[in-house]
Amino acid sequence: MRVKQLQEEILDLKKNCDVTILAHYYQTIQIQQIADYLGDSLGLSQIARDKANTEYIIFAGVDFMAETASILNQDKHVLIPNYESCCPMAAFLTPEMVKDFKKKNPGLPVVTYVNSTAAVKAESDICCTSSNSVNIVKNISKDFHTETVLFGPDANLADYTEQLSKIKTIKMPENGHCYVHSQLSIEDVEKRKREYPNAKLIVHPECIRAVREIADFIGSTTKMYNYVKDYNSDINEFIIGTEKGLLERLAEDFPHNKYYLASDKMICYNMKKHSLELIKYILENLDDKNYEIKVPKQIAERALSPINKMLDYS
Ligand code: SF4
Repeated sequence: MRVKQLQEEILDLKKNCDVTILAHYYQTIQIQQIADYLGDSLGLSQIARDKANTEYIIFAGVDFMAETASILNQDKHVLIPNYESCCPMAAFLTPEMVKDFKKKNPGLPVVTYVNSTAAVKAESDICCTSSNSVNIVKNISKDFHTETVLFGPDANLADYTEQLSKIKTIKMPENGHCYVHSQLSIEDVEKRKREYPNAKLIVHPECIRAVREIADFIGSTTKMYNYVKDYNSDINEFIIGTEKGLLERLAEDFPHNKYYLASDKMICYNMKKHSLELIKYILENLDDKNYEIKVPKQIAERALSPINKMLDYS
């Protein structure tokens, strides 16, 4: 009841504000339900650039996503409901580390996953997401006439990208990972497969190679969503190898299927730091600077080029 009431209050408040609410698929279903747009990192970057034509953008995602939206919309106010919502993967790579890798590997292009800080993006030649990393690496390696790229911070996505593109990735650093996806073990997945032998296993590229190797499908969050949407067979059971929020989205959109989380551990507590209460507070206090994400101009200008380059290649 309280949830419904809060959702209605948010939608009412929104009518009188020049605001767009963006939410990542890993948000709770209650937040997804009040968003203007839902998506994964790539989809939300595209929406932030092309469709969010309001003075204020509320971004229910982690900090690097709000930073990207702010870089793409420097004349707008990008607000994050909880400024403690940070992605630990991004902390694996600093701009100093990128500079050091570049020094040791002159002439190689730097590809950074969007799950990185704005300062790291500013040191990069191009960004990528889990949707487009293979395509991006193939294209940038051609531009630089090389068969090797520097890739960070996710070593599992680097490995997946290298397998599919056949372009060698030097991992910046060797152990960068997402705690949600990389903790999904082969034992977890085999257990679920035993429990639900008819279910299709679909996993995210941030999972470890051993898990990816036994999956029926590997793809970004949006690709996983589309796989289920387009699945055309008698089988309607899916083991979901990504954050729980996607399972909730799928259950709402395609309720005739059955979904099982690959492991009960697949929850990103950093994403879940937002709440309807905080979104309502922001709508009532749009000019509270504590919630505004602003990237320093110098960094934003340098980070814009690799982000735009990625969007142009996508
Ligand atoms: S799911 Fe992983 S990569 Fe995504 S925000 Fe959470 S920790 Fe970062």
